[in-house]
Amino acid sequence: MSKPQQPGHCELTYFPVVDKQLQVGGQPIEQFAQQMNSTPFYAYDRAIIEQRIQALRTLLPDSIRLHYAVKANPMPELVQHVARQVDGLDIASQGELVLALQTATDPRHISFTGPGKGADELQAAINAGVTLNIESATEMRRIARLAAGSGMRPQITLRVNPDFELKSSGMRMGGGATQFGIDAEQVPALLKELANLDLEFLGFHIFAGSQNLHAAAIVEAQNATLALAIRLAEYAPSPVRLLNMGGGFGIPYFPGEQPLDVKPIGENLTRLVEQAKTVLPEARLALELGRYLVGEAGIYVCRVLDKKMSREQVFLVTDGGLHQHLAASGNFGQVIRKNYPVVIGNKMGEKKTGVVNIVGRLCTPLDLLANKVELPLAEVGDLVVILQSGAYGLTASPTAFLGHPAPTEILL
Ligand SMILES: *Cc1c(COP(=O)(O)O)cnc(C)c1O
Repeated sequence: MSKPQQPGHCELTYFPVVDKQLQVGGQPIEQFAQQMNSTPFYAYDRAIIEQRIQALRTLLPDSIRLHYAVKANPMPELVQHVARQVDGLDIASQGELVLALQTATDPRHISFTGPGKGADELQAAINAGVTLNIESATEMRRIARLAAGSGMRPQITLRVNPDFELKSSGMRMGGGATQFGIDAEQVPALLKELANLDLEFLGFHIFAGSQNLHAAAIVEAQNATLALAIRLAEYAPSPVRLLNMGGGFGIPYFPGEQPLDVKPIGENLTRLVEQAKTVLPEARLALELGRYLVGEAGIYVCRVLDKKMSREQVFLVTDGGLHQHLAASGNFGQVIRKNYPVVIGNKMGEKKTGVVNIVGRLCTPLDLLANKVELPLAEVGDLVVILQSGAYGLTASPTAFLGHPAPTEILL
């Protein structure tokens, strides 16, 4: 019996190939790495980000506000670049607030989300005039108290923990019991209390899940989101002016995954915008995306330091590792470890000659960047490139673990 064909990674062509060399910033990767003067590094391509955002916009209704979730990749230059092309930024800490305020984004279009915001960061956000996305009753009262002392009237949205789930999501962010947002059934009481506070109610933020590749599931969640917002609007002290529908648009990371088909989502949003016009006439709809905007525009590059055999298996030991790319090692929320797409950047298109493991330099078996992948024959000095690394890479990794120097980041 022949072995069933395992599904591979889908074709990824954002970074072109010329003469067997992956092109990075218009140069062969070998030359580029020499110029960088050290590996490992992360490289993000601004043109790929731009094309991505433009392509997305053509599929969405014009009135949709497109926000960037800074935590996906907070590299300052990249945030500046993305900020120029989107309508707002979503932030989740005072550090991200500082970054966002350095861009030209109108503070009112910066929304501050996240459970457990501290008094200091709330005060800074109130003073800056950003929109606060309220996660609990305690936080609502805290904001009202802090604002009263500062003479400001903050704009707020309520983050609602929906009474539905986003199906087949990589990471669930709502539905069931969670630390995120206010359970939908508690929202009416909170809105009643809100009417007596000196806060400017803008609307709702309803985010059901991340990393979804199924258009039909996203469409279903967005329909349920608008329906929920319409129900809750009845209890609101003033008309809903903003409905942030979160994001959830995924990118293909693992074998067998296909890119998200955004077209049906855009078509459905066009219907929802029309529906909202009649029932929530003042409401603007917003999407808040992280990885979908920047994830495919980034690569992580490390060099093979050693090549060894162990009991019939080949191990390529690189100068990178999980301390710099936790997600690729499978330790950032994966239930079952799967391989990110990985290539030998200076041997593109060469015949695949064998199965190898790619590891980092840490003293833990968790430091596995690729498990049993088929690649061209690689040697010491070759460049291992992990694709789809523009989001949740460096800043989602424990860089202090084992004390190696941090990798460089460059925006091409
Ligand atoms: C993380 C996060 C996002 C972005 O998620 P992606 O999967 O990167 O698109 C959006 N909104 C909120 C509230 C988040 O916490």
